[in-house]
Amino acid sequence: MFGLLKQIFGTQQSRLLKKYQKTVRQVNAEEQKFMSLTDEQLKAKTQEFRQRVAQGESLDQILPEAYAVVKAACRRMCGNDVHVSGYDQKWDMIPYDVQILGAIALHHGSIAEMMTGEGKTLTSSMPLYLNALTGKPVHLVTVNDYLAQRDCEWIGPIFRWLGLRVEALTNATPHFKRKEVYEADIVYGTASEFGFDYLRDNSMAQSADDQCQRGHYFAIIDEVDSILIDEARTPLIISGPASGSKQMYDQLQAPVAQMVRFQRDLCNKLANDARKVLENLGRFIEGEPRKLSKAEETEEKEAFRKLWLVSKGMPHNKVLKRIKEDPNLRAEIDKWDVYYYGESNKEERAEALSELYIIVDERASEYELTDKGIRLWGETGNDTEDFVMFDLGFEYSNIDQNETLDEAGKIQKKVELREADAQRKERAHNLRQLLRAHLLMEKDVDYIIAEEKIVIIDEHTGRPQPGRRFSDGLHQSIEAKEGVAIQGETQTYATITLQNYFRLHQKIAGMTGTAMTEANEFREIYKLEVLAIPTHRKSQRDDYDDEVYMTEREKYNAILKEIEEVHKKGRPILIGTESVEVSEKLSRILKQNKLEHTVLNAKNHAKEAEIIAMAGRRGAITVATNMAGRGTDIKLEAGVAELGGLEVIGTTRHQSRRIDRQLRGRCARQGDPGSSKFYVSFEDSLLRLFTSPRITSFLQRFRPPENEPISAKVLNKSIETAQKRVEQRNYQIRKHTLEYDDVMNKQRAEIYAFRNEVLRGENPAKVAEEILESLCLQMAQTFFVSRSTEGGWNPEGYRQWLMLHFPVTFEAHEFDNDYLQLADIENTAIDKVVTSFRHKMAHENETIQQVQRRAPASSEPLDAEGILTEVVRSVLIRSIDRLWQEHLLNIDHLRTEVHLRVVGQKDPLLEFKHEAFLLFDAFSAKLKTEIAHALFKFKMMMPDETPPTDEKHREIASENEIDFRTNLSLMPELEFTQEG
Ligand code: ADP
Ligand code: MG
Repeated sequence: MFGLLKQIFGTQQSRLLKKYQKTVRQVNAEEQKFMSLTDEQLKAKTQEFRQRVAQGESLDQILPEAYAVVKAACRRMCGNDVHVSGYDQKWDMIPYDVQILGAIALHHGSIAEMMTGEGKTLTSSMPLYLNALTGKPVHLVTVNDYLAQRDCEWIGPIFRWLGLRVEALTNATPHFKRKEVYEADIVYGTASEFGFDYLRDNSMAQSADDQCQRGHYFAIIDEVDSILIDEARTPLIISGPASGSKQMYDQLQAPVAQMVRFQRDLCNKLANDARKVLENLGRFIEGEPRKLSKAEETEEKEAFRKLWLVSKGMPHNKVLKRIKEDPNLRAEIDKWDVYYYGESNKEERAEALSELYIIVDERASEYELTDKGIRLWGETGNDTEDFVMFDLGFEYSNIDQNETLDEAGKIQKKVELREADAQRKERAHNLRQLLRAHLLMEKDVDYIIAEEKIVIIDEHTGRPQPGRRFSDGLHQSIEAKEGVAIQGETQTYATITLQNYFRLHQKIAGMTGTAMTEANEFREIYKLEVLAIPTHRKSQRDDYDDEVYMTEREKYNAILKEIEEVHKKGRPILIGTESVEVSEKLSRILKQNKLEHTVLNAKNHAKEAEIIAMAGRRGAITVATNMAGRGTDIKLEAGVAELGGLEVIGTTRHQSRRIDRQLRGRCARQGDPGSSKFYVSFEDSLLRLFTSPRITSFLQRFRPPENEPISAKVLNKSIETAQKRVEQRNYQIRKHTLEYDDVMNKQRAEIYAFRNEVLRGENPAKVAEEILESLCLQMAQTFFVSRSTEGGWNPEGYRQWLMLHFPVTFEAHEFDNDYLQLADIENTAIDKVVTSFRHKMAHENETIQQVQRRAPASSEPLDAEGILTEVVRSVLIRSIDRLWQEHLLNIDHLRTEVHLRVVGQKDPLLEFKHEAFLLFDAFSAKLKTEIAHALFKFKMMMPDETPPTDEKHREIASENEIDFRTNLSLMPELEFTQEG
């Protein structure tokens, strides 16, 4: 069955390759023809192609000639100087056939899987050139700024030679230059620069001029797995200071810490008790365990049960960890896991766990308070109500039925209740995050403290990420836990997932050395097919079997031995690690053994690239985290190939097979020799957390002597199963993030489109009038048609509403007339409101004229119409932005809240979709009302008028009044993060 699928899949791939290979031959034939052209004639091809595209010829038709032009240009460039990343080099690249093949796949919107060192940078030049001929924006997305700059400098000369403009966009590109950068035919930049510019253009730009992007046509994503898989788990977020923060992390820190201490003491006691018992029974002595009496057996079982309990309450407990090193003892503990898993033992399990205060699920990265935990919370001077939420519907109806209250009293009570509810929710949220910080976030693993600040450690690269913050209060919670200053609460101003950002493009393509294992996800989420491109020369890499050890200690001994042996031969070695911590540990071991080496955890990519480039020299030993220096290939020093080339050593299997492959791919580039080998121990987190307990019992029987690897094919299989399990879980997380963002995507598209209409439209006053009209109509529906609260036909209600919201008057009972049709009423209302708005505009116009009259005769005349247009535009934009931010905040809260409803057997995603829809409805209605108000409230001020000074007034003034002397864009301090 599987074989059959593979066959179909395989033939599909080879059929496509055959087809493309035909095109490669066409390209080469075209290039032959171009040999006789002069440089000028070759350069003129660009203009010719542009014309042909403009006249309707398809890119597919032009492809063979266009690629041939690029190839011919490369040939003519040979020997020319190119200046890349501070070094002078000579151009020496003419695309190989396999590169042309990859280039064709890219144009057709596929992911070209090409090994490291195959020359993807040059490959992408062909589709970039071809697609740029349309004049539409073409982007090349890199993993970091350094590579954007490097690749642009490296390939840029070809494009320029052919008459195209090419630019690099980096974090250092100032905002005022970005528009110009985006005007270029081809732009190199990182996903987050592109994505943040998109968000900024659509949620922050105050005028069309302020927007820098000119659309999204074609993007080629380099190292596509890293961007669409690894980074896609966390959305891009622009945030700023939150208004009206109520956070209470500092207050809650002490009681939470105390609770965690209780738990730790409890677990320590359990673990130590168990250890003593096992010690007395002689379980720590080597060799056959002695025969136990019945009573002793019971005692022993109970000790293991206690240890099992510790694994549920404090998985990182030291005693527990040490005992687990012995596979026999570990198996005894795991037996309890199996026992409690049984359906019939569920109650017993619950009872056992109720001994703890908190149950921690390390695998799911979750935890839960037990009843005992909640009791303790109460007994230590807190309110157990902290964990109980109000049922607002129920409480409201209670108030309504309360006969001792009058209407005003009832409203007052409801307002109070709502505030208490908000307070309690905030408190519960803070508590949850604090507990998470204490129980699941580990110092020096998940974060470090640097200069009195909490700095995130990136889980993929192991690098510190200064400036990034955990979202949703987790960062503040860690700050509280570690006793450093708690930063103010932030609020989302704009957000999008990378997935949805890239979906904005008409076409995307990708390239990487490792995509096959994730082919399914690429197809499902991005509609991208993966095509494996053959290598230029046959790969000569030896991938050895894994060496698996019982303990970490034995594993490191083996790694050291291997390094010493390979190093003796003079072969360079690259050692990949999972984290900075492991890198440092390894470095210590190497130092103790007098092995000279370089540790790669440089803070900047340029330096990193430089070090990695040196890793191919004779005898070099380089220790690096797994993704460090991605995009830089390791060239072998002369003579090293004869020794066997680079050896890559993996210090563990990673969370996904793809990352293992990426590491292996570091050696044996372009037909060089090389080898790779992974070392694994049963204490590695992958195996500890994700392999089945059966393995433990297997090991028990086959524990090899100290320092001997366990060689068994079964293990390879179960390591791979564990990896697949984690891959699957991570896929679910990404899918989950995306599902939630998809709900937002429609809303975002709608509001961004409206905002752009306001921002770019010629006549915002017209939009303003339309909004007034639409609001009048909508409210007419409420008062005359819908059977909502106001009920049936309510002419007086409508009249009152109009007079309350607009500076208009209507005679008593004006609408209360049997001969009137609803349409008449609506028209009368709209007429008055719109006329009133026009009066307002005329009045403000007059104010400007007055300023003009008073100004010295020599000064520039003021364009009153123009000024007013911009003011109205700004009134609209500000209302949109303010309410949209408020909406995003509501959505954030909704997202956390729906998860609490899992208890009620409801599907959180469905709940979220439904309520997000309602929230958006409410937002649209509120937006119209808010804009309507603002349109009548803004006020042009005379230059000598001082704005009102008292606090309350200023608040209102800043919202609604506009002083046309000042710049309108007031931007708070913003933060750009990518954190989920
Ligand atoms: P990748 O991104 O696929 O890992 P790069 O684009 O970084 O590979 O290129 C790797 C190396 O191969 C570079 O040093 C480059 O100079 C070289 N190279 C690529 N294509 C060619 C070519 N057609 N002819 C000669 N050298 C090439
Ligand atoms: Mg590359």
